[in-house]
Amino acid sequence: MEFTNLKGFKDILPEDVRVWQRLESKVRSVLRSFGFHEIKPPIIERTELFSRSIGLDTDIVSKEMYSIVDAKGKSISLRPEATASVARAYIQHRLYDKNPVQKLFTFGPMFRRERPQKGRFRQFYQINAEILGDSGPRSDADLIILATTILNEAGLSGLTLYLNSLGCSQCRPRFRQGLQEYLSQKTDVLCSDCQKRAKTNPLRVFDCKVETCNEVVSDAPSILDHICQDCRGHFDSLQAYLTDSDIFFVLNHRLVRGLDYYTRTSFEFQTEHPGAQNAVCGGGRYDGLLKLLGGPDHPAIGFAMGIERLIDLLGDVGKGESPAPELFVAGLGEKAEEEVFGWVRDLRKAGIWVEMEYGSKGLKAQMKKADRLGAKKVLMVGDDELASGKGILRDMETKEQKEIDLKNIVNELKKVLQKNE
Ligand code: ATP
Ligand code: MG
Repeated sequence: MEFTNLKGFKDILPEDVRVWQRLESKVRSVLRSFGFHEIKPPIIERTELFSRSIGLDTDIVSKEMYSIVDAKGKSISLRPEATASVARAYIQHRLYDKNPVQKLFTFGPMFRRERPQKGRFRQFYQINAEILGDSGPRSDADLIILATTILNEAGLSGLTLYLNSLGCSQCRPRFRQGLQEYLSQKTDVLCSDCQKRAKTNPLRVFDCKVETCNEVVSDAPSILDHICQDCRGHFDSLQAYLTDSDIFFVLNHRLVRGLDYYTRTSFEFQTEHPGAQNAVCGGGRYDGLLKLLGGPDHPAIGFAMGIERLIDLLGDVGKGESPAPELFVAGLGEKAEEEVFGWVRDLRKAGIWVEMEYGSKGLKAQMKKADRLGAKKVLMVGDDELASGKGILRDMETKEQKEIDLKNIVNELKKVLQKNE
């Protein structure tokens, strides 16, 4: 039997990992400047945590979760998103006791049993950033500025920021009812999923990707015409902060996003790039979630950014140069090979990337290997060099060769490689 990875799952090979790491380090440095701290929740939680927070009628919960029943008969699931886990940890460890406003981020894999396609996997990675304990709108603006800064620093341009307000527990139910009435007249053109959604969770119809449903919602009432005065004030202030920060956005009253816990601000960064999944980063305010999960009645806002889609959009820009060793040490003959092993070990202790050949190979083969690795310099040592006490150091770029004293060679090399301890 030949083993391959499962459909929708993929190996991230070393060459790609380098791209990921470069991106990750840029993202981390932006997050640091915004004062965010990393949290690492487990990737498995009680299924109920997700069903209660994300909502039973969402696609994620109703059909996309990887769930198993543990030995005690309890259902546990691989996380389909991170906010629920961060919220649980915030409540469980009373993080708000230390600091009433917590700015947290997490980075890691999410799991959804979706139909695999370009930009859509069953295991994918997200950066999640959450501000817990502030009701906004300044924290809304700050979080959106953070997402914009990350995308800019990553080198991505040409994304459109869509913005909406989903109202609150005061005004949304009224809108929901009006929408339900509107949709009840259109049942025959809705897809079968949306026929159900129209009854159980009508706002979800806005999120449907089926063309006919899209047409139906294009004439649907707009939530922005129905939000209450407080929500309106919050939304207007947010827009003013963004405009003042030179952040361009487009209002989109159909942006509801696939999770039930959102209130007020909802946003998404989308690409117009053809053939790609268009959502790169999505987020929103979730003022009711912490209380819903048994925690304090604290407001919060967060976003999730998909790494694979980001990297895909970066294309060659994200690639950069392959790293290369400073030195390759070629030992020729048994005695030299033994010596070389010790030198390499000691140079590495000084943090210098040095390579060697494990087996016994001739000079030609070793030079070929040094070349393939992209080594900047090669030290050649055979019996003659050991006898004379002088090795040959070759600069692989200029092809220049010079003698180097083998007595105290580790220190000599450190000097040459400009990495003195
Ligand atoms: P979509 O509308 O494309 O399904 P979504 O609304 O389900 O996206 P979110 O739950 O908001 O996405 O997740 C945030 C981000 O995570 C998305 O903007 C996207 O970049 C990424 N993402 C979501 N699902 C996947 C997936 N199956 N494969 C790869 N990336 C994903
Ligand atoms: Mg989705």
